Amino acid sequence: MSDLNKYGELFSADVLILGGGLAGLILANRIKELNSKLDVLIVEKATTGFSGSKANKGAGVMWVLDETDDADKFLEFYVKEVGHYLEDQEMVRIYAKTSLELVKLFEGWDIEIMRDENGKLSRIEEIPLWALTAYDLDIMLKLRNRAKKKGVRMVDKTQTVELLTDNNRVTGAVGFDITDGSFKIFTGKATIIANGSCNWMATNMWYSGRGDGIAAAYRAGAEMRNGEISNFYNIGLRGNMSSIVGGQYALYNDLGEYIPPKYCKEWEPDFDINIFLGMEKEVMEGRGPILFEETEIFVKNPIAAGGFLFKWNREWAGKFWNTLMAKEARYTSDERWRPEVVPLFIGEMGAISVDHSMRGTLKGMWALGDASKSGSGFCGATPPPCRLRGSGLTWAGVSAILAAASVVEYAGEADRPSVSKDQVAGFKETIFSPMQRKTGINPRDGIRMLQEVITPPRYSIRKNRERMEESLNVITDVYDLVNNEISPEGDFHMLGLCHDLRNMTYCSEIYMKSALERKETRGWHVREDYPDQDDNNWRKWITARMENGKLKLSTEKIPFQNYKYNPQEVK
Ligand SMILES: Cc1cc2nc3c(=O)[nH]c(=O)nc-3n(C[C@H](O)[C@H](O)[C@H](O)COP(=O)(O)OP(=O)(O)OC[C@H]3O[C@@H](n4cnc5c(N)ncnc54)[C@H](O)[C@@H]3O)c2cc1C
Repeated sequence: MSDLNKYGELFSADVLILGGGLAGLILANRIKELNSKLDVLIVEKATTGFSGSKANKGAGVMWVLDETDDADKFLEFYVKEVGHYLEDQEMVRIYAKTSLELVKLFEGWDIEIMRDENGKLSRIEEIPLWALTAYDLDIMLKLRNRAKKKGVRMVDKTQTVELLTDNNRVTGAVGFDITDGSFKIFTGKATIIANGSCNWMATNMWYSGRGDGIAAAYRAGAEMRNGEISNFYNIGLRGNMSSIVGGQYALYNDLGEYIPPKYCKEWEPDFDINIFLGMEKEVMEGRGPILFEETEIFVKNPIAAGGFLFKWNREWAGKFWNTLMAKEARYTSDERWRPEVVPLFIGEMGAISVDHSMRGTLKGMWALGDASKSGSGFCGATPPPCRLRGSGLTWAGVSAILAAASVVEYAGEADRPSVSKDQVAGFKETIFSPMQRKTGINPRDGIRMLQEVITPPRYSIRKNRERMEESLNVITDVYDLVNNEISPEGDFHMLGLCHDLRNMTYCSEIYMKSALERKETRGWHVREDYPDQDDNNWRKWITARMENGKLKLSTEKIPFQNYKYNPQEVK
């Protein structure tokens, strides 16, 4: 192992965590609680607990099922309104049950969770099925400091690119320092992918999700699941691209008609696909653009923008939203009466297939948080956040809790991994190969090409074979650019962007090919050429893996025999 040093700096750990966001930091802290002797190393592209992670630029809102909630009722709601029978019902139950455990874990770590005057978790009356509480946005610093104190090691500013493997076992990762380009080799008895989802860099606050871990796992041979259920939209103000949660109840067409009754149920806890289909229909039939006005029903909606963000007295969240975000909005918003709104592409592809302990299909590999949220089967036929605001943060924590015991057990018993010098040398060569091209195409041009065939509603809200094939043709062209033409022009940050583009290209292919395969309409997967839900043929999961350099699709049976709700019985 020691002569690996000649290729780059070598780091070895018992548990190697790729990504120092919320999921990675919670896992690191939990592992130290369970077995303080395990050596835990976090490798982070930005700075662990500061930048990169989505959790410190979010709302901090958590979804929780508490002791007073009826788990059966929640599951029934979920199956019908979110998963459309494509969810793993056992996973949904486990998640629901573990959400309260997460609250207790946080409180034990001195992280304040918002409770009412009676000490109960915050609730919104209109949503009787679950609690919607929050923490303050300094949580990441608290978790980072706690992890440091417990001896967790951190390597920042390092972009991991490929997973090291020994036959079917993941043995670590390699990557490079984005500031000086130094090559780094990490070995771990257990390797954890906690580096987020793919959001295609389309919307500013979701910018960090570039699918690095998803694509690396895929290239290493891990299975992807539910790749087609990937892309979520918010309603956003054209111009400053702010999300307006609850905005479906504040929409008018250009004729001044109030449109929600045509496309929404009277009360919905979060956006359904029908409002986006409706917005598009209005525009295509000549009644656009779609305009926003704060109607009474919107203002009274307790989860509408602002409503829950400012419900609690949170110092950091208040500063973030009232100063930073308000300033941005002041300079970029459309200030007209009734400004225009659009379906705002968010993304959130997280397709790494995992079991109920977050183990991936390769030995020694786990995937947490956003990276595996749909691949776990939790989301079913609605992309994250699965019509449950607050489920992103809760999922990051719950998945870390679910993984912790098996990671500790495995890392405590497994042998030191053996690493192939040839594999390390080969990866080093391919990782730096774009640097050989002194000039060429800027990776941003490739990113733009992908965005144009993934993010518009005609590719990700409403699909058909022709447009998906058109998208796949462009994706093939982008692979060609990635392999032959993009150039970082000597800059290591730009080399990072070249790899981001490469990873987003893999994610695009997994998404589009899986979507092409699902020949039905179900939940947020809407096909114009297959407009009906087809339970006979498509009540199954679609999986994708790389075989001999090519994407291979398969289907996986959903174990309805273990579930409470079976569509045949419910119909
Ligand atoms: C604006 C906004 C508001 C939100 N509000 C809420 C909310 O109120 N409630 C809620 O539940 N959810 C919310 N979310 C979603 C929530 O923040 C995420 O679901 C959650 O933070 C996911 O955590 P994670 O650790 O899985 O991933 P991330 O937060 O994405 O962390 C991944 C980390 O991995 C690092 N990384 C990426 N690539 C590499 C690489 N190649 N090598 C090393 N490191 C890498 C990243 O820099 C990052 O630090 C919001 C998200 C956004 C963007």
